[in-house]
Amino acid sequence: MTEVKHILDTPIEFLKGVGPSRAEALRNELGIHCFRDLLYDFPFRYVDKTSYTFVKDIRSDGETVFLKAKVISMESIKGKKGYRLSGMAHDGTGFIELIWFQKVKMISEMILPEREYTIYGKVKVFKGKKSIVHPEMESIEYYASKKMLKYDPVYRSTEKLDTIGLGGKSRRRLTAHLFERITSAAIEDNLPGYIRSKQGLVSKWEALRWIHFPGQEDELKASQQRLKFEELFYNQLVLLQNKAIRKNRIKGIVFEKVGHYFHTFFEKHLPFELTGAQKRVIREIRQDLGSGAQMNRLLQGDVGSGKTMVALMTMILAIDNDHQSCLMAPTEILARQHYESIMNYVQGMGLRVAYLSSSIKGNHRKELLKLLKSGDIHILIGTHALIEDPVVFKKLGLAITDEQHRFGVNQRAKLWQKNPETVPHILVMTATPIPRTLAMTRYGDLDLSIIDELPPGRKEIRTIHRSDQSRPRVYDFLKQQIGLGRQIYIVYPLIEESEVLDLRNLQDGYERLLQIFPRPDFQISIIHGKMKPEAKDYEMKRFAEGRTDIMVATTVIEVGVNVPNATVMLIENSERFGLSQLHQLRGRVGRGGEQSYCILMSGFKLSADAKERIATMVRTNDGFEIAEVDMMLRGPGDISGTRQSGAVEFQLANLVEDQAILRSARLTAKKLVEKDPVLADPVHLPIKNYMGRYKLKYKDWGLIS
Ligand code: ADP
Ligand code: MG
Repeated sequence: MTEVKHILDTPIEFLKGVGPSRAEALRNELGIHCFRDLLYDFPFRYVDKTSYTFVKDIRSDGETVFLKAKVISMESIKGKKGYRLSGMAHDGTGFIELIWFQKVKMISEMILPEREYTIYGKVKVFKGKKSIVHPEMESIEYYASKKMLKYDPVYRSTEKLDTIGLGGKSRRRLTAHLFERITSAAIEDNLPGYIRSKQGLVSKWEALRWIHFPGQEDELKASQQRLKFEELFYNQLVLLQNKAIRKNRIKGIVFEKVGHYFHTFFEKHLPFELTGAQKRVIREIRQDLGSGAQMNRLLQGDVGSGKTMVALMTMILAIDNDHQSCLMAPTEILARQHYESIMNYVQGMGLRVAYLSSSIKGNHRKELLKLLKSGDIHILIGTHALIEDPVVFKKLGLAITDEQHRFGVNQRAKLWQKNPETVPHILVMTATPIPRTLAMTRYGDLDLSIIDELPPGRKEIRTIHRSDQSRPRVYDFLKQQIGLGRQIYIVYPLIEESEVLDLRNLQDGYERLLQIFPRPDFQISIIHGKMKPEAKDYEMKRFAEGRTDIMVATTVIEVGVNVPNATVMLIENSERFGLSQLHQLRGRVGRGGEQSYCILMSGFKLSADAKERIATMVRTNDGFEIAEVDMMLRGPGDISGTRQSGAVEFQLANLVEDQAILRSARLTAKKLVEKDPVLADPVHLPIKNYMGRYKLKYKDWGLIS
């Protein structure tokens, strides 16, 4: 016999009311193998059993409700598979059908017409008719006499579990049986007493009991508070511990000199005054670079906020300190654009800047790699081609990536290894603003810099929402803008399920536009994902040089592309785009001195979410505000620009609602890491044990995001 170490490790089939076949169902359907799994499978909601729902207020299919109603008829009906029992109940506001397929005879004797019952169960709404299959019922007299829990837990379930009777009441009974088997001694509190009392948190044991069976609202609130704190605290602890370890163990190259190149650039080449935010961020970066620890910094800044200049000045610092730098962008178009603008900025400074992508071949490539290896290239800009093995630096001191969520973990890891002697400093730039709470829980181990100010003189982009009806007027407006010498983007959504449909949508739009904007008065470019890179480049170039008036595209132009003369972004089927994508697209205009516009086209019928997205775009240009709304609408799990692998999911904590808890959890974890970094103090043993048991260690140690 195998020895059972801990009561919570007991296989689930040994729980009263389970047995082998139900155990198998629990394992397969919900992944519940042992007592612990059941204990930690928290209810996802509670039915308040002190007040009743009115039948007329039931709106959606699948709602679990608690009703008080009079049964007005009961009849058994013969069907293909035998008898079923159908009752009709009325609560003064509406009718609901009650249906039984099993124990028909017994129930027909128990549930009597003209009597009042409490009725509990999951409602089906079909063509306006409401029904409950196998409701739980009690006579109103019996219910009143019973001492009841106020809140009834509702657990996640599956169709299979529902049919074998492990959906509602009996599932609740299992958890109740579990609490008969365990005592507070089985639960080691993973938060030391001093943290609990400082934060006003209940014990783990109380929290676990009350999260399943709260007697009153206070208990429910207290248990949620405690368990949410715990979740966020451990999330922060892992991140902050990792950050501390990294800072202590990885030696950073020290860039202490602000030398010839930096001064020359600052005094003679910088074409504009830096914004306050750019200056602050450069200061933050310089502090890292001089600290002796490796920099691992995330730079967030809305589109057009001037991240490229920050990147360039950081690279120039590296050169002053005898190191090479590289800048990697996710697409050829973007990489080339960086290359061209940086070449422009540093012209005449005697810096050697090179460009590398898979399209650089043959002798040119050979020569370039040679110069890179001998240290004769200062700055290498390119696509992911620059992390390939044959690309060898003499002395890489700084690696910058732009639009970080497009790169996979492995690609980033390779960048870290490009300097065999030590890790280069890392700067990750992203134009996808991440809500603060999300940044804290996902990137809490990175240092964060934010450019929250746009260069002066930018005019707010005017955003308007139009439907098909206004198309003629919209086209007139576009012609007027073209007449003024401006250029226009027209973007079609990408229908991921069908590339064919996607392309047709775009082609149809293109052909329609050719009629409205006929040659030779108007010139139209088109770009989509199925085109060869050379063809794309050619079209992009024609547009960038002002030889075409309109760029028709799918979302390939989403990131980074810079054509200051483009003043209108028209988005077709805008209801189909996510908020952050809409915002990214809008960022393609408003890059020059002229007033720019974003026109969101949509049909008439919009979902509530689509309305909210469009209204948000019309209301604000602030990327951080947009990110917050986006997180509220979609939930934190789906926000783009977040960790692709091992995204943090919280069981109870909600990053929209629980910001205050997150702040105290972070502060508590921070103090702990400062005071007792290796958890040596016996009072922190419960924390150490817990981290050991659940292997709470930073997974991609030493990698960014
Ligand atoms: P991002 O990469 O953050 O989207 P860019 O670095 O491409 O933004 O900058 C957008 C535009 O703003 C560029 O044309 C750049 O030359 C210009 N720019 C950047 N910083 C400033 C500044 N401080 N003052 C004026 N213009 C600036
Ligand atoms: Mg950029």
